[in-house]
Amino acid sequence: MSNAKTNCLCGAVTITVKEVDPKFTVCHCQSCRTWGGGPFFAVKCGTNVKIEGEDKIKMYESSSWASRGFCNECGTHLFYKFKATGEYNMPVGMFHNLKGLEMDMQYFSDMRPNYYCFSNATKEMTTDEIMAYFSAEI
Ligand SMILES: [Zn+2]
Ligand SMILES: [Zn+2]
Repeated sequence: MSNAKTNCLCGAVTITVKEVDPKFTVCHCQSCRTWGGGPFFAVKCGTNVKIEGEDKIKMYESSSWASRGFCNECGTHLFYKFKATGEYNMPVGMFHNLKGLEMDMQYFSDMRPNYYCFSNATKEMTTDEIMAYFSAEI
């Protein structure tokens, strides 16, 4: 776990995260790939997050359980936020000096298109496994 600070491309939004988990997740779902043009490389940032320039953030509710936030000046994708817990997942690429980064999990592995694949050895979960896991948690 490490502390990290970053900002969007134009600098209107600054984000400070108290604890970033360096084991990150890659999401292959269609929403993530539509949003970012490719799979979403997401680090878990928990709820201890300080955001400056919040008035420059546009939120989009991409599902009944989460919203996505981006800078309305430069378009930088800032976070995926779970409604129930308030936890943030943020693009790993926004953080420049994180130590110990490791691709740990791939979500929606059954939705991964056949035009790319990663050689990293990771855990994987299919759509069915994810739905079962999260419905058990609630
Ligand atoms: Zn910006
Ligand atoms: Zn996704």
